[in-house]
Amino acid sequence: MMFIPYGRQNISEDDKRAVIEVLGSDFLTQGSTVPNFERLIIDYTGARQAVAVSSATAALHLACLALELNQGDILWTSPNSFVASANCALYCGADIDFVDIDEASYNMCPDQLELKLKQASKVGRLPKIVIPVHFAGQSCDMEKIHRLAMKYDFKIIEDASHCIGGSYLQEKIGACQYSDICIFSFHPVKIITTGEGGIATTNDIRLANKMSALRTHGITRDQECMENDPHGPWYYEQLSLGYNYRMTDIQARLGISQMQRLDSFVKRRHEIAKQYDDLLKNLPLITPVRVKKSHSAMHLYVVQLIEATKRRFVFEYLREQGVGVNVHYIPIHLQPYYQNLGFKWGDFAKAENYYTRVISLPIFPDLTSEQQNYIVTKLGEALHG
Ligand SMILES: *Cc1c(COP(=O)(O)O)cnc(C)c1O
Repeated sequence: MMFIPYGRQNISEDDKRAVIEVLGSDFLTQGSTVPNFERLIIDYTGARQAVAVSSATAALHLACLALELNQGDILWTSPNSFVASANCALYCGADIDFVDIDEASYNMCPDQLELKLKQASKVGRLPKIVIPVHFAGQSCDMEKIHRLAMKYDFKIIEDASHCIGGSYLQEKIGACQYSDICIFSFHPVKIITTGEGGIATTNDIRLANKMSALRTHGITRDQECMENDPHGPWYYEQLSLGYNYRMTDIQARLGISQMQRLDSFVKRRHEIAKQYDDLLKNLPLITPVRVKKSHSAMHLYVVQLIEATKRRFVFEYLREQGVGVNVHYIPIHLQPYYQNLGFKWGDFAKAENYYTRVISLPIFPDLTSEQQNYIVTKLGEALHG
């Protein structure tokens, strides 16, 4: 029986040719292909700077470091996300907390954020950074979150891992109109892929320079930045404690090739979503709401069962029938690692309630309408079974 995954990359003959070309060139890494990919992302998103790295997780880490998140600081994000959105705070020795979600968009609720900020302000425990996650490819209410950032003096990193190709208020996600830094993921299940890979965009050249240095050990070869006179042409200086978070030229070349099809991928994802909307109309579940100011990249198609008690059976039935459903997300604060930090069931009730009822249906550019019909038929059987 064929297995339909929940997400899958689309690799063309052009993609393969492009990658093979790099393999025959002088540079597999640290050549000109990574800067070329960065320029392409800059042109597409409208941001001033872009720093390509080995994963979105690395991008989140570097973004936190560039914004000087330290021990004693606190970072807030959404519980309805992949663990990487929160782990980046812990990498920096900072504390973590969450803001519950909005029941319609499944994104961080801006009203909850405001309430929590008011309380935090009273006890002098305001966050240094807030990471809104554009869940399923749909932008958070960035205008409002940005207004709160001005009032309560925190920085914003957009976790746009789901969201390249999406837009908000006529601007492409990544333009950083309402944030300090925006990060994207190029894991194969995301909108475009580089195998593994990620990128951070920003309009602040100082933040970009910090992230660039930290991605390669904190080393500089730029004489202008050095503390001492060069000992000779071989000389370089390590000025901060960085990492090897570099993207390879092989990955960047795949990214460049994939970017040519980004808009068509997003368009196809919307067609698939529209077809699900139509096919699922009469089933006892809630289909995804599209929020007004945002054009989603449609990374996920999440259905919410009216009856939470049926979720496990429906999930298992679909998997048995070869439908690779998934669940996005187990709330981060319920992970054992986070429970050991003191979080527990009941802390973020909306994200928890949401979690008990959702299933992500397969969505990716090559999903056929026959496959979609099959998925919906099997889902119907499961719900009525
Ligand atoms: C995929 C994902 C990440 C991590 O991306 P990697 O490129 O795999 O490191 C972070 N946040 C969210 C919301 C994601 O979906």
